[in-house]
Amino acid sequence: MTDTTQLTALEALVASHPTIRLTPPSSPDFPAARQVWNAGRLAQPLAIVHPQSPADVAAVVQHARAHALPFSVRSGGHNLEGLSIVDGALLIDLRALAAVTVAADRQSATVQGGILQHELASKLWADGLGTPTGTIPDVGYIGWATYGGYGAFSSHWGLGADQILAATIVNPEGDIVPADEHTLQGIRGAGGLFGIILDLTIKVYPLPSLLAGAIMFDPTDIAQSLITYNAAYQTLLDTEGIPPQLTLQQIAFNSPHGRLFGVIFTWSGPDLEEGKRWSDKIASLAPLLMSTVAPTTIPEWFAGNGALVPKSEYGAPATHNIRSVTPAVAEVIGRNLAIMPADPGTMFSIHQLRGPSAQSESSAHSVFAAREPHFLLEILGFVTEEKNQGEAERWAARLAKEVQEVDAGNVLPTAYISLFKTQGVPAEELLNKVYGDKAALVRELKERFDPQNVFALTVPALK
Ligand SMILES: Cc1cc2nc3c(=O)[nH]c(=O)nc-3n(C[C@H](O)[C@H](O)[C@H](O)COP(=O)(O)OP(=O)(O)OC[C@H]3O[C@@H](n4cnc5c(N)ncnc54)[C@H](O)[C@@H]3O)c2cc1C
Repeated sequence: MTDTTQLTALEALVASHPTIRLTPPSSPDFPAARQVWNAGRLAQPLAIVHPQSPADVAAVVQHARAHALPFSVRSGGHNLEGLSIVDGALLIDLRALAAVTVAADRQSATVQGGILQHELASKLWADGLGTPTGTIPDVGYIGWATYGGYGAFSSHWGLGADQILAATIVNPEGDIVPADEHTLQGIRGAGGLFGIILDLTIKVYPLPSLLAGAIMFDPTDIAQSLITYNAAYQTLLDTEGIPPQLTLQQIAFNSPHGRLFGVIFTWSGPDLEEGKRWSDKIASLAPLLMSTVAPTTIPEWFAGNGALVPKSEYGAPATHNIRSVTPAVAEVIGRNLAIMPADPGTMFSIHQLRGPSAQSESSAHSVFAAREPHFLLEILGFVTEEKNQGEAERWAARLAKEVQEVDAGNVLPTAYISLFKTQGVPAEELLNKVYGDKAALVRELKERFDPQNVFALTVPALK
């Protein structure tokens, strides 16, 4: 079928399903509607549909199947490589599906497939509840959680993937069905490989108060600040230990006043005095510049974090999972931070996986591979000005290479798909790199639930 015939058929679909909105390339809204976080992703989808209900999504999948029309799915559009839009394919934009229903026992909530992290967390906050999310407001919750989901509450409550209790999907036949246990295991780590996720039922927790903010260290010698902080933090981990309610994310970025290094501090326990003691302790681990840690609210917290990251950027990520930030690794990172490109989009961050998700028992229910305690290096070779893209990507790749070279035994064999540069990596190699000893299971689940590869333009693409 030609593009024109496909577009005509889509017009017929929306005529018979008036709640589905269609944005064709001729629409003045098309350029904005196809924009994703990765500004360099210049794919030209055939058209964009905006279903308003689960039944709309099912109708679109049935239509796509009947017309052999390839399609991709987006919610937050924050895949780092912009993979949710694809040349010539229909783009299904799920963002209108953003409802949250809290269960009567207040231990779970059902959240729709297009909801953004800040929408979900703000609705839960209004109910005195919380659940793990990342820190950036406009990231799609389902895209974040189903591939792993590292974030500000993961030390306390675990990864996003480990919150998933149930799911409703549109399957390859275009039917709305509850996910069975096998599909659920695949969804916990391999996202939308088996169908379009209409909703997830997730665990939620009491969160009546929040103590959070940034603790920034002296940037005069940024390398030394990072080395000092990590040595002292490791000592704290080895001696006193860190309470589960405290999640710390190291971050380095270019502020209007220059390059800064510090940690995002999140205390999700009810005892704010205890949280304050921990914030003082963390602030004393290296020479302090300033701390903004204070009682706050989820909406305020997201707004503050969102202001740190530009809305769209050019470039590519690099990443490793490492067992420990050893002095040799800290030296490599510190040295590279000192020469980090000065664009506001270039960033570096370290998440730590400890607590409930860093345990082999969690592994049985998911395909998420990296279950030993580790640190996730988020090396963001991104820029706001396209002309600087090459420099930032080279910087990110070099930092990752040097970490590998300085202590190869410290690097876990698997990497986090949401931070991994997948472009150009053959599907089989990518599957092994991301899912390790779960790769065969992911392939087997895909064969079982989507043998005709109806959901072909997914993250990751298997063929
Ligand atoms: C600025 C920024 C900050 C980030 N911070 C973190 C972080 O702190 N921690 C972390 O773990 N990750 C982080 N990420 C990575 C992010 O979590 C992943 O890229 C995530 O997959 C993005 O989801 P999305 O819905 O926004 O992306 P999209 O580009 O909309 O979707 C990506 C893919 O997810 C799948 N998908 C999404 N929704 C559905 C659905 N309802 N049904 C079926 N498939 C679906 C599709 O295959 C789609 O192509 C960050 C990314 C960015 C750009």
